[in-house]
Amino acid sequence: MTLPRTDLLLVGAGHGHLHLLRHAGELVAAGYRVRLLAPATFDYSGVASATAAGGLSVEEGRTDVCGLAARAGVDHTVATLVGLDTARRTATTSDGTELTYDVLSLNVGSVVAPSGMTVHPSTLTVKPLSGLADLDPRIRRVGRPADVTVVGGGASGLELAAHLAVHPDVGSVHLVEAGERIGPDLPAGARRRLQRLLAARGVQVLTGWQVHEVAERAVVRADGTTLPHDLALLATGLAAPGLLADVGLGDRHGVPVRATLQHPDHPEIHAVGDCAHFLPAPLPRIGVHGVRQGPVLLCSLVARSRGAALPVYEPQRHALAILDLGAGTGLAVRGRWWWCGTSALRLKRWIDRRWIRSHRA
Ligand SMILES: Cc1cc2nc3c(=O)[nH]c(=O)nc-3n(C[C@H](O)[C@H](O)[C@H](O)COP(=O)(O)OP(=O)(O)OC[C@H]3O[C@@H](n4cnc5c(N)ncnc54)[C@H](O)[C@@H]3O)c2cc1C
Repeated sequence: MTLPRTDLLLVGAGHGHLHLLRHAGELVAAGYRVRLLAPATFDYSGVASATAAGGLSVEEGRTDVCGLAARAGVDHTVATLVGLDTARRTATTSDGTELTYDVLSLNVGSVVAPSGMTVHPSTLTVKPLSGLADLDPRIRRVGRPADVTVVGGGASGLELAAHLAVHPDVGSVHLVEAGERIGPDLPAGARRRLQRLLAARGVQVLTGWQVHEVAERAVVRADGTTLPHDLALLATGLAAPGLLADVGLGDRHGVPVRATLQHPDHPEIHAVGDCAHFLPAPLPRIGVHGVRQGPVLLCSLVARSRGAALPVYEPQRHALAILDLGAGTGLAVRGRWWWCGTSALRLKRWIDRRWIRSHRA
């Protein structure tokens, strides 16, 4: 006798869901029919600044999602989610297909946060990473040393400004930040070290600069001051994709989830990574949470199929973050502790490559 299967639909192949694909056999054994709705490839953000600035090949950070799904025996629809009917438990895909589910899990990442400024469509954004991959070709197309403005002095803006400053086809880099200081979350000593590094590479850092408009060839301040550029890059922070709020599953903070990674009003809906709003405590949008939530999600799904209590996600108080500053240098930070140098970047590459390798083959 064949037992009825529970339809599990995974939307997005972010860090958490890649873990589920590697362990799909456990889900099948627990009684699920697993389906995936996601683009054909996944780009790993740990090497995104280096690949975007041309320091590493795009392939270094790319995972073949189709291959992983095929090896796991998971039915993969290569498309994106565009609509969701939670009452009918039906997802609509970008190719017009309707996929029904009993249990849904969302791992669709983040987008650049709405910045309240007018932004010209030619402006590059740090997310999605597929768009950021256009940075190096766009710089080369300028045809002379390019003047680039990075808007936003958080982690990704700092990484990219540092990389661009050593790019052979970049003439000047401006880093524009609305707040009084760049890297506001960094320990004071690490921030000073970073400021010295940026100054030594010729990056012009402008703080207290509230941008009103990012036009095609200039950034415009509220008082009308302009800063010309060939190319602008928007790095004003990350937010959950607007689609999730549009389908009634949350707001700009993301899909609300309890410690069990379940939506409080829809226990059949789980969310992990940047698209989730972890209700017990706000989490920074960094890959480590997506990575660490993967095994918890797997245990949750297996537990619910057995009617057992669901495990909870307990975030680390201080996660190690390592900024890739280009030219072989990294800045490692954990809580108030930090160090800057080639060994920090070597450690980052080792961690990143080990993770990427484990999701290949
Ligand atoms: C330049 C840059 C560098 C960064 N460096 C680091 C770093 O070194 N370390 C770190 O911890 N964090 C870093 N981050 C943050 C990191 O990118 C995120 O925290 C992390 O990627 C979130 O993981 P995730 O699994 O939630 O989503 P993602 O890694 O974004 O994966 C989500 C996936 O869902 C897919 N998707 C999107 N929309 C849909 C849809 N509608 N339907 C189906 N699929 C969809 C996407 O194509 C993507 O493959 C960086 C961010 C940027 C912008």
